[in-house]
Parts: sequence; structure tokens; C-alpha cells
Amino acid sequence: MSHSPKNLVILGATGSIGDSTLDIIARHPEKFDLVAISGHKNVDKLTKLCEKFNPRYVVISDESLYLQLAENISNLNIKTKVLAGESELETICTLPEVDMVVAAIVGSAGMKPVLATVKAGKDLLLANKEALVVAGDLVMSAARESQSNIIPLDSEHNAIYQCLPDSYIVGETPRSVDKIILTASGGPFWNKPIEEFSHITPEQACAHPNWDMGKKISVDSATLMNKGLEVIEAYWLFNMPINQIDVHVHPQSIIHSLVCFKDGSLLAQLGEPDMRIPISYGLGLGNRLTSGAKTINLLEHGKLDFIEPDYHKFPCLRLARDSIESGGTAMAVLNIANEVVVDAFLNHKIPFTSIAEINQKVLEHVSIEPVSSLEQLLELDIEVRSLTSQLIVN
Ligand code: NAD
Ligand code: MG
Repeated sequence: MSHSPKNLVILGATGSIGDSTLDIIARHPEKFDLVAISGHKNVDKLTKLCEKFNPRYVVISDESLYLQLAENISNLNIKTKVLAGESELETICTLPEVDMVVAAIVGSAGMKPVLATVKAGKDLLLANKEALVVAGDLVMSAARESQSNIIPLDSEHNAIYQCLPDSYIVGETPRSVDKIILTASGGPFWNKPIEEFSHITPEQACAHPNWDMGKKISVDSATLMNKGLEVIEAYWLFNMPINQIDVHVHPQSIIHSLVCFKDGSLLAQLGEPDMRIPISYGLGLGNRLTSGAKTINLLEHGKLDFIEPDYHKFPCLRLARDSIESGGTAMAVLNIANEVVVDAFLNHKIPFTSIAEINQKVLEHVSIEPVSSLEQLLELDIEVRSLTSQLIVN
């Protein structure tokens, strides 16, 4: 039986998740038709990707680089149409021929195209957790209305999705489940004494022991904010109360997460720390595709460890849990503040320890409202960015 290829869009194709996704596409050219890809600033990489994959459209979201990219593409003699600017991200996701969108932009910059994808009823393969942390309310209710399928690519959420019954639809509360347990590597500083935290450099923070990722998520993994954002992500995707979402530190990163069922069964998904595994499961819509990843050899590992998270050393994880309890715009406020402070840390403007301190101050300063609209969140974005920047300077 032959199936027609899936028409695919990749937002953030020039990043780390973009690389892994394209690696799988290249292994299964008969299964996917690349409608469009996007990148923010990396003109050379977008040019190379267009040459190799021949998408129908390419979007450079930083408009000022349009001419450069257009010139490169015209020299290649390919049919790819060049579009520029943030709003074109929504255009490519909602084209009538599109079946699925891989959301791999970093940060809340991906929120509008994610929402547009879901509203248009397309399948959303979500790596861009910040979009869901900021707009979870709007995204999940839009998905319910349009019956868009959301498939998590984040390894933990993908692991949980793999452990749930085939009939499970993301956004529903899984009836047979008691708890979900997200595993965390602990990041590069799990064993570092807290007294040394103020000297941590961006280079040290970006050297993750188990995963090779973009800079922002690497810093988030070092502060454990990444796990905090993932607790929020799980809260929205699996529609579970916060006291049914646990975190276990598991330094080997072999078990990607677990589901505890009401009968006492515990199911887990295991694998090498290689994002091609969760991404290929998403791209195959439940059918398993070869991904190029190795199969894990448990005998080489011998033992697996599980430890309670340390909220004192890693206050960002606590802030994230608290923001779920506050509800409304609190999760968005925390995420936006964190994007600004992580950028400041990466640019050597603040020490590592200020990341959590400033995040907390911002949460204390901004009044929390129920989430009502995209416009409200876009205004909040401006307000929180400006407040956080002021706190960074002072
Ligand atoms: P990355 O920095 O490697 O790539 C980010 C992509 O987003 C690039 O294509 C870049 O051009 C684009 N981009 C950046 N700023 C943009 C903007 N303002 N507007 C539009 N596009 C913009 O990041 P990554 O590691 O690939 O992570 C992408 C997302 O996936 C993040 O939300 C991250 O948390 C999530 N994720 C990543 C991994 C991983 O292993 N890398 C694992 C799980 C989840
Ligand atoms: Mg993850």
C-alpha cells in the first residue's frame, strides 16, 4: 500500500531541532514533501538547506536580510520562493496544502505561528515549548476547537506520549494515569557546590553533559528552568494538575520520562539521548521510522540513578511550579522574563545566579491576570521585556 507524502513545514529549520528533523526527512524522501522552511538570521545555512531540500518557500524572519537571501537563491537556479518577515511564518503554516508543522523556533517568537497552525487545524509537532508556556490556554483551546493534533517532540513529553494508549489525544486528561514523572539530567552543575555558582560562565553553562542543543535551552538546562518550563508544558499537554506531575533527576538521561498508571504499572520510554528518536516518532504519526539513532545498550550503562530535585540550588524549578499555581498570565511572565535574563547572561551582563533572582523579582512586580487573548499576551510581552531589562541594568 502506498501513502502520499506528508506536506511539511519546518519553523526554525536552521537550529538544532531543525538539523535533526531534516536528517530524518533526508532518510525518508518518499514520505515527506517539504513545503517551507524558516530561519531567523542565518542566510548561508538557509541557502544551503534550500539547495539540498528544494522547499517551495523559504522564510527569513529577520526582514533586513531578505535581499541577501533572495540573491543567493536566484543564483542557485531553484524554484524556491523567498519570503521575509515574521508574519510570513503564519502564511507558510496555514497554506492549504500543509499537513504538518514542526515548530522548532526558540522562545516566544514562535507563539504566533504555533497558534496559527493549530487554528488552521494542521498537525503541530511541537519542540518550541516556550510558545506553549506563554500561550498554553489559547493553543490548547484552539486545538480542541479545530481538532488539530498536537504531538510533543520534547523528549520527555514525547516519552509520555509514547507510553499512553494509542487512542490518547493530546489535551485530554489521560483517565488511567495517576502521575507522570519527568526525568531531568540535572544539567552540568548538578554536583557543583552552590558557592561556586556566581562564577559560572556562559561557555560552561552551554556545555551540557548529555545533549547537544541551542544556547538558550542549554542555559535553561543548567538552571533547571528547562525542567520548570517542561512541567508547565506537561500541565498543558496532558491536562493534569500540578501535584500529579513529578520530576526525578536521572543523570544518565536514558529514561526520558515515565507514566504511573492507576493499577500500579509504571511505563517508561528509554533511548539514547538523541532528538531524532522523538522527532521521528512525531513525523511518523505513531508509525516508527528509522531515525539513524543507536539502540541503547543497557549493559554498557549497568545502573540508572534517580534523585529528588534540589530546589534550593535550582530555584527556577520552584518558580515554574509556583507560576502554575498562580495561574493566568504568571507562566507567560516567567517565561518572558527568563528569555531576557538568559540573553543577558549569555552576553556576560549578569552572573548565573541573577537569572533566578531577576525572574523572581519580575514575578513579584507584574500583576497576574486571567489569559484572554493573543493581543493581551503580546502587550504583556512588551511590558515584561522592558521591566526585566530595567532590573538587569539596576
Ligand atoms: P536553536 O537556537 O538551535 O534554533 C532556534 C531556531 O529558531 C533557529 O532556526 C533560529 O533561526 C530560529 N529563531 C531564533 N530566534 C527567532 C526569532 N526571533 N524569530 C523566528 N525564528 C527565530 O534552538 P534549538 O535547540 O533547536 O531549540 C528550538 C526549540 O526546541 C526550543 O524551544 C527548545 O526549547 C526546544 N527543544 C530543543 C531541544 C534540543 O535538543 N535542541 C530539545 C527539546 C526541546
Ligand atoms: Mg526536554
